[in-house]
Amino acid sequence: MPGTLNMPVVPQIRDCGEAPLIEMRSIVKTFKNAAGEFTALRGVTACFYEGEFVSIVGKSGSGKSTLANMITGIDHPTSGQVLIGGVDIHKMNESDMSLWRGRNLGIVFQFFQLMPTLTLLENVILPMYLTGYLDAAGREKRARELLALVGLAGFEDKLPAAVSGGQQQCAAIARALANDPPILIADEPTGNLDSRTADDVFAIFSGLMEAGKTILMVTHDAGLARRTSRTLLLSDGELINPWVAACFPELPHSQMLWLSHHLQERSLDEPRRLDGSTCGLWLFTGGTVQAHLNGTSQARPVTLQPGHFLSALELQAAGAQLILSPNGDGPASALHLDGDAFRKWLQEAPDARRTLQQAARRQYGGEQAGILQRGDQP
Ligand code: ADP
Ligand code: MG
Repeated sequence: MPGTLNMPVVPQIRDCGEAPLIEMRSIVKTFKNAAGEFTALRGVTACFYEGEFVSIVGKSGSGKSTLANMITGIDHPTSGQVLIGGVDIHKMNESDMSLWRGRNLGIVFQFFQLMPTLTLLENVILPMYLTGYLDAAGREKRARELLALVGLAGFEDKLPAAVSGGQQQCAAIARALANDPPILIADEPTGNLDSRTADDVFAIFSGLMEAGKTILMVTHDAGLARRTSRTLLLSDGELINPWVAACFPELPHSQMLWLSHHLQERSLDEPRRLDGSTCGLWLFTGGTVQAHLNGTSQARPVTLQPGHFLSALELQAAGAQLILSPNGDGPASALHLDGDAFRKWLQEAPDARRTLQQAARRQYGGEQAGILQRGDQP
């Protein structure tokens, strides 16, 4: 009987087989000013698909707003392309861009940015007026419906300053929906709201996703991010490999990024013999793998699934060699850090060992980190 491990956390990854609605290709953004140059995005490649609600998270200064601004066209990349519905948006001139943006994107900001001298109703009518969407009566009817949708029926004639921050954000969402755009982009839409109001705003976004909109939301709220269909994690202007983020959530982002750079894709199509010095770190991403102690009758093999990992630390704890073999049909896939790189990493990142041990306890369910459950134990 193979030993059983706790179920791993598997990242939501969309298969790039279908055509993405939004595609960022190798986006680099360098800001130049009197103080010098700063590269805020260092080659970001990402796809977003129709009907997704994707959260973008990362520390302050990691490049989230810069990334959002590349998609809205508010700012231009230094190099790279953004394709939305097949259109290379940064090839458009300013006037084509603003018309295109008005029809295709709804944008929501942290500080609402409603026009202070217009009523909530007029704020929602304005984008329709600017793009020539509907006639005057149709615009007013639609604006009233949208305000009702976000819970603001009865507040149509108020000025922004006369309602709460949460209500202003709801009005800003209604405004973003005015031209019925397929895509909504929100940069920290709940960043300035208390947690209950943030929940209400989040519920509006969830409803919009169910109605078929594609939503990208920058947030620093990990709880909200977990409730979206997929999360991208940015660190220092780069995307962290989602398998690394899912498997080792306790690692500092700089370490996650280091691993993202150094892990190599491997296909396991035949058994491999590993010991404490060659094992390094394996992060399994496809298929299943059996791991068993070599030459001892007392160990039971364990089955490793996508999202599980194996490191030399567990192997050293068991003091043995191990055979890793693909299970069933076809090869298994993994990300691998070789033995030398793994040792170097542990030397240079003093907390990594403790984080790996913690992740191992979670994976194996027991107090002792040891992959190889001994046959003589219950
Ligand atoms: P986040 O939204 O994740 O907090 P930003 O995308 O706003 O981060 O910024 C990423 C980095 O780029 C930060 O270090 C920020 O100081 C820098 N940055 C952003 N905008 C500019 C600018 N216009 N000029 C110079 N540096 C900028
Ligand atoms: Mg920001």
